[in-house]
Amino acid sequence: MNFENKTAVITGGSRGIGLAIAKKLAEGGANIAVLYVGDESEGKAAKAELEQYGTKVEQYFCDVSDFEKSKAVCEQVIEEFGKVDILINNAGITRDKLVLNMDEKDFDAVIGVNLKGTFNMIKHFYKHFMKNRGGRIVSTSSIVGLIGNAGQANYSASKAGIIGLTKSVARELAGRNVTVNAVAPGYIGTDMTNVLPDKVKETMKAQIPAKRIGTPEDVANVVAFLCSDEAAYVTGEVIRVDGGLAI
Ligand code: NAP
Repeated sequence: MNFENKTAVITGGSRGIGLAIAKKLAEGGANIAVLYVGDESEGKAAKAELEQYGTKVEQYFCDVSDFEKSKAVCEQVIEEFGKVDILINNAGITRDKLVLNMDEKDFDAVIGVNLKGTFNMIKHFYKHFMKNRGGRIVSTSSIVGLIGNAGQANYSASKAGIIGLTKSVARELAGRNVTVNAVAPGYIGTDMTNVLPDKVKETMKAQIPAKRIGTPEDVANVVAFLCSDEAAYVTGEVIRVDGGLAI
């Protein structure tokens, strides 16, 4: 897929699914702006990896849940890259507990990053995409946003919220040639899932019809398609990338 002369902003693009998406888009020729909140050395390693594709790569410290700070970063990205064509809302956190033990902070933190962070980023680039009469927005939901999961009420609610947000913004921006879609990964091998006990991992794997855990690249391939010119007539869609787990 060809992304030459396109600029992509990827939240949480220094590792896991976000890094795989950044690599796939850079491989197609996109300039990349990565937003991160974590370890600076990890961020530097990701930048070096992305620069191998020969396009412009910059990193910005940015907590997507902070409306004003993320707005300033998005303005800086537009200024430094000239324009933005693709927004990938990938940043996400978990605070897994049964509601019995879940406190308000656990709920607010997950909604703040996953759902409000996605809103914040869409809001900051909304006018830019409208003015450019074109753009791609892809957000990372989850199959638990479709089917729920015990112990993930906060996370599932945030991911279901992303689907409603995606469909609404898709309707708002379709006439401006801006597509807005979501992917709903199943069980993907990243830092987020590596922390699960081995017994839980084996049980989950056994439930996947494809009989394997997904890779970040499995998700990146679908995201890249949704960002491509070929996907111009796909909007408001949610694509499961789950090896059949939520069929
Ligand atoms: P991960 O390795 O834990 O990566 C999460 C990313 O989110 C990191 O890059 C992190 O940035 C970023 N992030 C966290 N809080 C942030 C904040 N406040 N502002 C900006 N960035 C923030 O997890 P992953 O598995 O790659 O997950 C990527 C996305 O896929 C998430 O939205 C997750 O919910 C979703 N997902 C994952 C799975 C799965 O099985 N792995 C399944 C369904 C959906 P730093 O690197 O700077 O810390």
